[in-house]
Amino acid sequence: MTEGAERIWTSRVLTLFPEMFPGPLGVSLAGKALEMRSWALETLDIRAFARDKHASVDDTPCGGGPGMVMRPDVVDAAIEAAQAGAADWPVIYLSPRGAPLTQARVVELAGGPGVILLCGRYEGVDERVLQARDVEEISLGDYVLSGGEPAALALMDACVRLLPGVMGSAQSGDEESFERGLLEYPHYTRPRQWQGREVPEVLLSGHHEKVRAWRLAQAEQTTKERRPDLWERYVATRDR
Ligand code: SAM
Repeated sequence: MTEGAERIWTSRVLTLFPEMFPGPLGVSLAGKALEMRSWALETLDIRAFARDKHASVDDTPCGGGPGMVMRPDVVDAAIEAAQAGAADWPVIYLSPRGAPLTQARVVELAGGPGVILLCGRYEGVDERVLQARDVEEISLGDYVLSGGEPAALALMDACVRLLPGVMGSAQSGDEESFERGLLEYPHYTRPRQWQGREVPEVLLSGHHEKVRAWRLAQAEQTTKERRPDLWERYVATRDR
């Protein structure tokens, strides 16, 4: 947590490319919130923790194979520095081998004091430092990025929009996709008729209960059609 009387949600990012931050989080709601100090972003350049005269942060993989691996001693020193005054913050390595990021985990992380995010490059990080530092691994999805930075930005974006005062309407998060285990219902705005397509009549009725019921039915139908995995879990919880 950032020092001082006011404690604000803070993300400490360990990266070989600090210039990639805040990147897209410097604009729009997140950018404004960053400027207003509703949250804080600190980057630590992993290269600054290299110990040899060439400032090397990686080495060849033991056992052979392509690419390079980030050295445990360098990453360990970077994590240690990031944990100063933040010993109880989760340390997360963005990794395709991690648990898929979920809205439930995002809600937990946004409710805590902050996060330490380790961005990998090359073939990844030496396994021993992940074990030694009890690092949590989180994946953005079943595909391979060239570095952890875009994944760290996505994770931070998801957390920051949940922080108090960041989103325009305090309510707008409550009914979003995943908050209730369902995908969201479809949205419509003016004009009432567009290219021969009408806004559903019920949404113009002014009848709040009917609108609510229609939206729930739409959310259920969309989830059932598009995400059988979520639907199965939702039905099990709903019927319990
Ligand atoms: N050799 C690794 C593998 O096959 O699992 C991929 C390494 S990738 C080229 C370099 C870095 O990008 C990783 O160390 C990780 O930090 C990040 N990365 C790649 N894909 C990711 C994903 N799906 N989610 C989160 N981070 C990812």
